[in-house]
Amino acid sequence: MDDGQPPLKLFEKKERIFPKRVWGKYRQIKWVAMVALLGIYYLAPFLRWDRGLHAPDQAILIDMSSSRAYFFFIEIWPQEVYYLTGILILAAIGLFLATSLFGRVWCGYACPQTVWTDLFVWVERIIQGDRAKRLKLYKSKWSFEKLWKLTLTHFLWIVIGMMTGGAWVFYFNDAPTLLEQIIHFDVPWSVLGWMVALTGSTYVMAGFAREQVCTYMCPYARFQSAMFDKDTLIIGYDTERGEARGKHKKGESWEGRGHCVDCTACVQVCPMGIDIRDGLQMECIACGLCIDACNDVMHKLELPPDLIRYDTTHMQATRKQGIETKLSIFRPRTFYYAAIIAIVGAGILYGLLTRSAAELHVLHDRNPLFVQLSDGRIRNGYDIKILNKTLEDRIYSLTIEGIEGAEIRMQGAGQQDATALPVFADSIGHFRAFVTASKEQQKRKEVYFKLTDEQGEIALTYESVFVSSKP
Ligand code: SF4
Ligand code: SF4
Repeated sequence: MDDGQPPLKLFEKKERIFPKRVWGKYRQIKWVAMVALLGIYYLAPFLRWDRGLHAPDQAILIDMSSSRAYFFFIEIWPQEVYYLTGILILAAIGLFLATSLFGRVWCGYACPQTVWTDLFVWVERIIQGDRAKRLKLYKSKWSFEKLWKLTLTHFLWIVIGMMTGGAWVFYFNDAPTLLEQIIHFDVPWSVLGWMVALTGSTYVMAGFAREQVCTYMCPYARFQSAMFDKDTLIIGYDTERGEARGKHKKGESWEGRGHCVDCTACVQVCPMGIDIRDGLQMECIACGLCIDACNDVMHKLELPPDLIRYDTTHMQATRKQGIETKLSIFRPRTFYYAAIIAIVGAGILYGLLTRSAAELHVLHDRNPLFVQLSDGRIRNGYDIKILNKTLEDRIYSLTIEGIEGAEIRMQGAGQQDATALPVFADSIGHFRAFVTASKEQQKRKEVYFKLTDEQGEIALTYESVFVSSKP
């Protein structure tokens, strides 16, 4: 139906953003953060840590083939996945605490999406020039200059993507060995698959999707406002001081007008393409680049800095009443987050410090529950698992308590003696055990398997049952 109105648009094409180069305090912090984080990411897999003959010497390694995770002196077994859960809780609550205190500091400075996008924009700027030149090139018709500049940009993006994907797989393999395999084009297909996938995702996310990842894809951007309160740091434009905005000629009076000269420098440097003068927006990642841009303008105009600044809604409100307040760090919310971090951190530390060098697991046979021998005694069967978490071979001794006169024997050639159970270093020993005892009055009775080692360092008990008649 033609009602004279323009057709409703359900999709609007996103304008490409070309952030302008900027200098200043926050830009410097971002450079330092980028170099430090990328340095850690690329170099960490090559750190060595001597664990002896039976374990890999890579300081940080997730070894899928032997189901172990190594982090310097810590070795996590699959049975100890609760440590990983604890670390994830610590990371999440640490992020909540940082957000509650400093707003979107993670998004602006440390998120991989931000760091790699920054790196890709830097490459783009080196080859194609600053914002005005990139915009011109983008809008220009195809020419030799456009072709070689775009080709080189995309080539370097793919190289960075390959390095990113390549570094990731080093965390799951012995890094020097894999590096040698990569150099000789002799990479296993499974590893190659991950490298290709991660190269592609880095290229697409940092080269094309960029700010749209933060705006539309990242769930954290959506729910972090729940951690904000009136004392959380945000990026604020001082409307009282800045408005009424307008162009300003040198020598003109500032009387009766605001300090914002409407130069749009703060908009041109914004990697999210927003105008912070419109108020705080969900897209703002609190990178502080608009502060640097505006402070530069203020400096040239010989006006005080911080027309745009890190602020809080509380400080903004009190400033309107002529009172300058300071950032409040100690608040109930931050106290609760810090308390959770301390409790979980202490739990992990306690667990690691008191961690046993072995584990014992006993599983009673379900079928048959028991067997009556020709002499009238009852025999129960058990699957025994002994985890030797040390880096040396050990001999363990298994005894049974809880039933008068009970005997324990191991099944299998050479394993009749339950006091000499060998388990290799850093591995699991599987055994079959039979416990024989005279018929008990009780149908089920608790029995206790006791594990000790030659060195006398291990003394573990596992409670199980001895069944002597049908339930
Ligand atoms: S508005 Fe400022 S702080 Fe927010 S994303 Fe843009 S440049 Fe960064
Ligand atoms: S950079 Fe500062 S002066 Fe320029 S438009 Fe932004 S707020 Fe106004």
